[in-house]
Amino acid sequence: MRQRGRIGRASCGAAPGPSASPHLECPVSDHILRSTFADRHIGPDSDELERILDVIGVRTLEELAARAVPASILDTVAGGIADGLDVLPLPVGEHEALAELAEIASRNVVATSMIGLGYYDTLTPPVLTRGILENPAWYTAYTPYQPEISQGRLEALLNFQTMVSDLTAMDVANASMLDESTAAAEAMTLLRRANRKSTSARFVVDVDVFPQTLAILATRAEPLGIELVHADLAFGLPDGEFFGVLAQLPGASGAVVDHRDTIARAHERGALVAVGADLLALTLITPPGEMGADVCFGTTQRFGVPMGFGGPHAGYLAVRSTHARQLPGRLVGVSVDADGDLAYRLALQTREQHIRREKATSNICTAQVLLAIVAAMYASYHGSEGLRAIARRVNIEARRLADNLRSSGIEVRSDSFFDTVTAIVPGRARAVVDAARVSGINLRFVDDDTVGVSSDEATTRADIDAVSAAFGAAALEGDPEKSIPESASRTSEFLTHPAFTRHRTETAMLRYLRMLSDKDIALDRSMIPLGSCTMKLNATAEMESITWPQFARLHPFAPDTDTVGIRSVIADVEQWLVDITGYDKVSLQPNAGSQGEYAGLLAIRNYHLGRGDDHRDICLIPSSAHGTNAASAVMVGMKVVVVGCRTNGDVDVDDLRTKIGQHADSLAAIMITYPSTHGVYEHEIDEICAAVHDAGGQVYVDGANLNALVGLARPGKFGGDVSHLNLHKTFCIPHGGGGPGVGPVGVRAHLAPYLPGHPLRPELGTGPAVAAAPFGSASILTITWAYVRMMGAVGLRNATLTAIASANYIARRLDEHFPVLYTGDNGMVAHECILDLRGLTKATGVTVDDVAKRLADYGFHAPTMSFPVAGTLMVEPTESENLDEIDAFCDAMIAIRGEIDRVGSGEWTVEDNPLRGAPHTARCIAGDWTHPYSRQEAVFPDAVVGRAKVWPAVRRIDGAHGDRNLVCSCPPIEAFA
Ligand SMILES: *Cc1c(COP(=O)(O)O)cnc(C)c1O
Repeated sequence: MRQRGRIGRASCGAAPGPSASPHLECPVSDHILRSTFADRHIGPDSDELERILDVIGVRTLEELAARAVPASILDTVAGGIADGLDVLPLPVGEHEALAELAEIASRNVVATSMIGLGYYDTLTPPVLTRGILENPAWYTAYTPYQPEISQGRLEALLNFQTMVSDLTAMDVANASMLDESTAAAEAMTLLRRANRKSTSARFVVDVDVFPQTLAILATRAEPLGIELVHADLAFGLPDGEFFGVLAQLPGASGAVVDHRDTIARAHERGALVAVGADLLALTLITPPGEMGADVCFGTTQRFGVPMGFGGPHAGYLAVRSTHARQLPGRLVGVSVDADGDLAYRLALQTREQHIRREKATSNICTAQVLLAIVAAMYASYHGSEGLRAIARRVNIEARRLADNLRSSGIEVRSDSFFDTVTAIVPGRARAVVDAARVSGINLRFVDDDTVGVSSDEATTRADIDAVSAAFGAAALEGDPEKSIPESASRTSEFLTHPAFTRHRTETAMLRYLRMLSDKDIALDRSMIPLGSCTMKLNATAEMESITWPQFARLHPFAPDTDTVGIRSVIADVEQWLVDITGYDKVSLQPNAGSQGEYAGLLAIRNYHLGRGDDHRDICLIPSSAHGTNAASAVMVGMKVVVVGCRTNGDVDVDDLRTKIGQHADSLAAIMITYPSTHGVYEHEIDEICAAVHDAGGQVYVDGANLNALVGLARPGKFGGDVSHLNLHKTFCIPHGGGGPGVGPVGVRAHLAPYLPGHPLRPELGTGPAVAAAPFGSASILTITWAYVRMMGAVGLRNATLTAIASANYIARRLDEHFPVLYTGDNGMVAHECILDLRGLTKATGVTVDDVAKRLADYGFHAPTMSFPVAGTLMVEPTESENLDEIDAFCDAMIAIRGEIDRVGSGEWTVEDNPLRGAPHTARCIAGDWTHPYSRQEAVFPDAVVGRAKVWPAVRRIDGAHGDRNLVCSCPPIEAFA
């Protein structure tokens, strides 16, 4: 095996090992140079880079920049620092950055949070914190689009779906939503699609839902022409027709209301009903499914996922089986592999944006997989009895408080509650809240006369005594009165599957987590060359702080005095993203790229409306765009007009001009990805932007490919009015197996007033809220903070240029084996390249699928398959892979090309060859062998010599079989026999 350049370098040529003392042996300046974080983050060292540049045919990274990027957009550079980036702080090392972050964290106050409103303190079992949240095997994985090497997280997600459908008593749950409030909005639009009986545009919303949910519903309803009707369902349904009804259980006030009657009445009147429900409460109270609800939604945050100043957490959505095909987002289903063994994969993908585009059920792409897995494992670890015990404890503390208050003559709004008590204290609310603060407890100030108190898993008897004292109430002894009436109590069983009974000891859980993650290829095993996904290093120093209690245990609506530190992280990240993108203002609220798109398009819509341009509703989208673009445009009420691409992959500017001509008066925007998903920097970008602006439209630059721009060019300066970025691509937040993400939206000044607002943060302005929490998934912003802090302006620019260099190196090495589909004017690609397999497929019958699955036998994750062009593979190495790994990938691809040729020559048939047979499991080579290739060729092809063997857990999965026989919860154990 070749030795990694880095080892030799760090030890100055001495033998690596504990005795090597680089500090003593290296000249001081050399050591300082070598120990910068950028050197750890960027894969190729200077020797490797030299070899890479040699193959590409340029001498320096600067020359590469000049050759690859159009001069018209390229920022000037002085001392390695690009225009506008001289304001970024000078980089510091890992330990200094962590020390700074620790100092910032110390400015937060971790109070006892009893604010409620959908966010509750939770006691994460340490085995889950370390085993999942802090474990790269879980957090560095990608969305399980290659199911054969993703069986671990698919099983964990199936547990999540089973947990949700069991607790809610619904038939099918999806594999997570972005948060509770957006799940409510998806429930609303789902009901509208599903309701074939009603043509009404009215939607009834109970007054006792969370304020942030009300705000999100209002945001979503407006562009779609849905009229929200607010009603107190305790007094029955309103008059008139409506297509759906939404209620929450328990309500924001804490009241547990039996909605059975309301649901039956609504059904009689042709409406469908969605109920938001607290999963912990559902262990004790009648679940919505048993009340007759059609859809159930909520959050799984309190199942072991820290509040994190608002996120990330997994929302959930569950439906009756009749509506399964209407579910948004990802859905895991059971199917079989080529040997007839049970296997998991994503089901019903034809609902999703990447296939259905503007006709998709939603724009959701990145969801909240990592957090869904934590929640599912929390349920596995505690089991039904454990969860019920936690719920009883939560409930008894709330009851104790209610008793104390009532006995002191304080009115409590509802006698029927689970965890939240709303107390009526005329004129005294502020004083009560302030008194509790003195004891280090945050309560919910509802209004001058009303205080809300929510108990949770962490609440103690002492907390309740202190809160009682704050109200001026005495603490009583003895058993508090019941608060859940018999008629509203849960009687049905739940979580009886072995997935929720077998892993109750720490040893069992530890091994279960390891067993699952061993089935998956994440970044801790090999490079993941997924084009458009930017699977770069998620450095440990960037990750460390996410589980610090000073960030993790903050309630999103905690008083400002508690959140000084995290808000300074937010301010830094906002400012740095402004500097990097050239926009005037950035909002961090959107919790995925798709949500950033939605927020950005809403800003465009509201800008046009604000100018009286209410007829502008056409959104031009090039055919190469990501599916989320079209799906997002539809959500803001725009009509999608597709612009063609030329044979060289560029946007067809003639077609663009024609389409602008046809829709000049109604043009709202163009959504253009830059550099394009074809992996090139289009030279006509300024012309495209100008043409749209001239016609009165706005330019949305999809910034998912910002890894090819940071430090080189700024969308806010070269023609964009608005962009979303993906912090989980360019800025090192790990993909988590399909989420979390952060999708900030940046805008030029004229759109700034339309950036997301929030009902509980008036200072964010009056724009529409797009996520439940004011700053979205705030607790993972420390990852991006640390990345920028440690890289500095020079490091960031070098990262971008190295990513481009590596992509061009791969393009050069593989072009003769798999033609590179598109290149720019100088024969250069940007940060990714598309390998065209269509000719080979035509000649030999070997498909992109075959190549993708075969790569698993070689120990690699496949590149992006058939996006943006069917029959191709899109490769993005990122800057973080060193040359050894890049070469190993290229060697594997070249070896695979050799195998394709043996099919082409007739040596192997197209039905029976190592490609079609891939991936191969240990089991399949141990059994009877009748194939024309050897067992060794199957699992140890020459190109993998010296590489750790990856054993896929299953063989090729039959996706269609699973869709025909839809099973979306844990199969019985006998099914594996
Ligand atoms: C990843 C991506 C998106 C969507 O981002 P999510 O965070 O997954 O919602 C949009 N556009 C492009 C070009 C992308 O690559």
